[in-house]
Amino acid sequence: MSTCENKEKGVGVLRNPWLNRGTAFTEKQRDELGLRGLLPPAVSTRDEQVARWKSIIEQQPTGLLKYITLDTVRMIDEALYFQLVMENVEEYMPLIYTPTVGEACQKFGKIFRQPRGLFISAEDRGHVRELVANVPNKKVDIIVVTDGNRILGLGDLGACGMGIPIGKLALYTACAGVNPQHTLPVTIDAGTNNEEFLKDPLYIGQRHKRVDEDTYYELIEEFVNAVRERWPDVLIQFEDFQNTHAFALLDKYQNRIPCFNDDIQGTASVVVTGFYSAMRVKKEKLSDQRILFLGAGSAATGIAHLLADAMVEEGTPREEALSRIALFDSKGLVSSRRTDKLAANKLPFAHDLEIASSFIDAIRQLKPTAIVGVSAQPKTFTKEVIELMSELNDRPIIFALSNPTSKSECSAEEAYKYSKGNALFASGSPFAPVEFEGKTFVPRQGNNSYVFPAIGMGCIYTRSKFVPTGVFLAAAKSLAHLVSLEDLDKGALYPPLSEIRELSVSIAAAVAEYCFDKGLAQIERPADIKAAVREAMWQPSDPKFAAGE
Ligand code: NAD
Repeated sequence: MSTCENKEKGVGVLRNPWLNRGTAFTEKQRDELGLRGLLPPAVSTRDEQVARWKSIIEQQPTGLLKYITLDTVRMIDEALYFQLVMENVEEYMPLIYTPTVGEACQKFGKIFRQPRGLFISAEDRGHVRELVANVPNKKVDIIVVTDGNRILGLGDLGACGMGIPIGKLALYTACAGVNPQHTLPVTIDAGTNNEEFLKDPLYIGQRHKRVDEDTYYELIEEFVNAVRERWPDVLIQFEDFQNTHAFALLDKYQNRIPCFNDDIQGTASVVVTGFYSAMRVKKEKLSDQRILFLGAGSAATGIAHLLADAMVEEGTPREEALSRIALFDSKGLVSSRRTDKLAANKLPFAHDLEIASSFIDAIRQLKPTAIVGVSAQPKTFTKEVIELMSELNDRPIIFALSNPTSKSECSAEEAYKYSKGNALFASGSPFAPVEFEGKTFVPRQGNNSYVFPAIGMGCIYTRSKFVPTGVFLAAAKSLAHLVSLEDLDKGALYPPLSEIRELSVSIAAAVAEYCFDKGLAQIERPADIKAAVREAMWQPSDPKFAAGE
């Protein structure tokens, strides 16, 4: 690390998490920076510091305390924080992100210590540009923005939703090497309808109900314009907006600016990956499948649309692709014969089908090759459902994607047991390996973290003008081909998450290649895209880091 470029000296260096490396400052650096005597004499290596913090985190009795401790490391020394996270990504991902981040958001006001990111309130309308000007980062490549209205499955957490963009951006860096100094978490505080928060003296947001729709969309528009004025190529990732706002914002902005919604599009990409992997096992095309969803919300319709796009890419006409996908919601099979008013995002999948009020009847009618659970209704993939799917198919595709584990449509064990080991299974929650008739099956989670960091990295690297659907298919195809034959043989449709950094290089390169091919990139195409992406990925030891470039 070269610290000589920085003007800061003495205790100012130790108080600046972008410059500080604590006891790891060398003797020479201590002299240059006026640190002698301000640090204990022993010089540590970075590995020793990581080991020390790892031990401190291990001693914390709860997930929330581990979360707070990790955040403390970040407040002291950003590069050390990322080294710690990157070396323990599988262990710490559930702390930085789901499930622990959910509890952290619920208690955000109570555990709040230091601000991070940008808060924009409805009260700031007309002045958002001034707030954006206060952000110290000279360069911002990516913003993750939430309005806190639908934080994970926890509902309206208002300004306390800020834990989500912070956590998500940490994963962009840890998984795919996005430079953390070029990231910005943003919370749009449009009020909250959370009565408990409105009464809580420690709540950190504006103390009023959510603003009306016009004010809301005006505020978002002002935010988008202000950040793009300061950082014209900035990629905006929308996160944890409630359904109608999520679809409306994506619709409004996706052809105007580089942006995407991970809940809709990232989820779809990782689930389509599971399908591509299943196709490798079945040696069939996606267009050969008939897919029935249990649940017809944002996850289901997002996945369904991308599956249709993938079939179209294989050469299937769109009408036919759509006809291969059906939805089943809380009122039964989604059909054009239903008399209730269907939400707009369900209409493309409302085919002329017999009314069916039970899922098993819908399976009998449609004879699907795949069922996808995104209903948050536990145990709905019953023994009868899985056995029927196994009667209809040699290798039934059974994805039980609802979170958390208690909401899963079935467990991995149930899927393998009732299908006699033939299910091609993926889950939304982690499940341990399953022993069945002498074989060990390794179910893997369709975790969005496989794809969104690399999609972000690929788009940032190319300075892509937009993030079209093809990007999500490129990422899915790339990831599916990174699953080893050995993994497929064990039933795993995804590679080990522990390899995320290396996986992200390939996925980001595939995304970048797509952006170059489609003329979306605003940089010159390098001879070796993968090498160039790898080179662009930030490392905690990056000398440019300390220089604040
Ligand atoms: P949502 O609230 O938008 O949709 C839920 C859907 O389930 C609705 O269409 C509703 O009608 C339907 N439903 C409710 N009860 C039902 C019943 N008894 N029978 C049939 N359908 C029923 O929620 P969402 O954002 O789409 O998320 C759904 C689930 O998917 C959640 O558990 C979420 O955690 C999970 N999810 C997983 C991943 C992933 O694994 N990567 C990603 C996103 C969402």
